[in-house]
Amino acid sequence: MSQDTPEFLLERHPNPVTPAERERLLQDPGFGRIFTDHMATVRYSADRGWHDARIGARADLSLNPSTLVLHYAQEIFEGLKAYRLPDGSATLFRPEANARRFRNSAARLAMAELPEDLFVASVEQLVRLERDWIPSADGASLYLRPFMIATEVALGTKPSTDYLYAVIASPVGAYFKGGGSAVTIWVSDNYTRAAPGGTGAAKCGGNYAASLQAQAEGAREGCDQVVFLDAVERRWVEELGGMNVFFVFADGSLQTPPLTGTILPGITRDSLITLARDLGMTVREEPYSIDQWQADAQSGKLAEAFACGTAAVVTPIGQVKGRKHGFTIGSGGAGEVTLRLKAALQDIQRGRSDDKHGWLHKVA
Ligand SMILES: *Cc1c(COP(=O)(O)O)cnc(C)c1O
Repeated sequence: MSQDTPEFLLERHPNPVTPAERERLLQDPGFGRIFTDHMATVRYSADRGWHDARIGARADLSLNPSTLVLHYAQEIFEGLKAYRLPDGSATLFRPEANARRFRNSAARLAMAELPEDLFVASVEQLVRLERDWIPSADGASLYLRPFMIATEVALGTKPSTDYLYAVIASPVGAYFKGGGSAVTIWVSDNYTRAAPGGTGAAKCGGNYAASLQAQAEGAREGCDQVVFLDAVERRWVEELGGMNVFFVFADGSLQTPPLTGTILPGITRDSLITLARDLGMTVREEPYSIDQWQADAQSGKLAEAFACGTAAVVTPIGQVKGRKHGFTIGSGGAGEVTLRLKAALQDIQRGRSDDKHGWLHKVA
């Protein structure tokens, strides 16, 4: 494939959803239930490299039962959003950062590394084609899900020689049913999601598989999400199943756990650190223990806490529960600093404030 901006071969869907039906679907899209007409795909084989980049009708994948991904879980993914700007145009938010992370995830899982320009081109060209699927309601967007699977047909334990990369798109509303209200999280003290030397910093399906039992336990305890502690000491707060976590202190400073290899390096996390510093706030990337979190929430030293990620944006944490823990943060609702940072981020994503860091990537 040429080194210039890669062009995807376009084969339009013969029977796309009608405009009237699309409008109806976009009224209340929920999260991850509705998908657009097309998908982008690129193939990799050891002898041909990356090839066959195309955008075609979104369709079922047909896999031989011996396909490697079904047995040894060589699978990685990304999540990013396309937003509609006030002038009607469409933009992506920091897709180059997703492209880089996707390559890092591939390297950790011994998969072929997709060139970053090919990743960005796949997302850009799919969004350009599906631009009418971007909902315009505030808080709504078109969620893009790039992913890659090992497709070699074999049962030997080794890195696959063949891969399928694909991008699907899904119009979404708010991630949590309650919209912007605070969530309750469950402290998992028996399950961990990532250990030193493991795959915690890679965005792979296997990490999610490892988190689901804890998530189900949290749900039985009436919680919306799970917070994981480090696997060695079971003491340090790491992150939620699919979101990073921040603590806001009464003195106005912020803290978030450092990226030591067991935490997913969130692009929302990184953006919020920058925005908070722009606003003159102090941000520390330092470990914070669950016991300290409880003590500080009870003494009032800790004022707010929130989770963040592309899917759920910024979500206030109101309550924390566990077998050995139970406390309320602040008033149990959304805190002032949390809402201020959320607004600062969304104002950039929605084109309502100056994009001084060059994070917007206009596509159509
Ligand atoms: C994707 C993800 C996040 C959030 O990353 P963003 O780039 O902000 O969307 C956080 N934690 C985990 C485990 C994730 O998979």
